[in-house]
Amino acid sequence: MLETHDLSKTFNGLMALQQHHLQLQRGEIVGVIGPNGSGKSTLFNLISGFLRPSQGGVRFEGREISRLAPAAIARLGIARTFQGTRLFKNLSVLENVRAGAQLRYPVNLAEVVSGLGRAKIHPPASEKMAWELLEMVGLEAVADWPAGSLPYGNQRRLEIARALATAPKLLMLDEPAAGLDSSETLTLLHLIRQVRDRYGLAVLLIEHDMDLVMNLCERIQVLAYGQVIAEGTPAEVQSDPRVQEAYLGG
Ligand code: ADP
Ligand code: MG
Repeated sequence: MLETHDLSKTFNGLMALQQHHLQLQRGEIVGVIGPNGSGKSTLFNLISGFLRPSQGGVRFEGREISRLAPAAIARLGIARTFQGTRLFKNLSVLENVRAGAQLRYPVNLAEVVSGLGRAKIHPPASEKMAWELLEMVGLEAVADWPAGSLPYGNQRRLEIARALATAPKLLMLDEPAAGLDSSETLTLLHLIRQVRDRYGLAVLLIEHDMDLVMNLCERIQVLAYGQVIAEGTPAEVQSDPRVQEAYLGG
């Protein structure tokens, strides 16, 4: 489904990501781990079109996507969340989910003003679908609360519901458990599994919480200084001396 090939990004001479290769199949849950500054968010930004590669590229369902704009990539079925939440804090929980569909079909403001874009405006996610997603993330009871009034753990689950409102084929989560306590993290683990099982989508996640990564991911890739230093099952990665060295020596 997703393949990065020789994917590289340089910032002013700094190799943030070097010759990255990854293949992801439909229905797989794959984790990307590594010390701070190892290139994880850069990888996500390259896949989702927020950065242009210095070299190499990204294929999604056989098509080269690395020169497409973020909105075009989202329309192909790739949804992502960011480190920290980016909700519409003053909109209700339900409105945030319904607005998610707009992220997949964003309109050019100039076209809207001129009237040309009207036909392209995609309707918000249906009320029914939004409620289904809210139920799945356990937030139906607070559907009309402002999103900003929710405890942080609930905001993170709302972000996932919003990303799912675009009906993606690939869901990319950047540190979804950051700031969550252990019981919220467990709820998140079950949610991600449920989402994969119900919709059959692929999940790529960056995470520092090792318990979550090791329990949730079927395959893990380890980055250090922009390079892939190990890849395998949780057990393989955990026993790899290069991985232990990257974390202890880093
Ligand atoms: P991680 O997410 O693994 O912590 P990042 O991908 O954010 O790491 O960063 C990898 C390296 O690239 C770091 O050295 C970081 O400072 C650098 N970097 C990331 N984004 C930019 C940018 N927009 N401009 C310059 N340097 C950047
Ligand atoms: Mg990061």
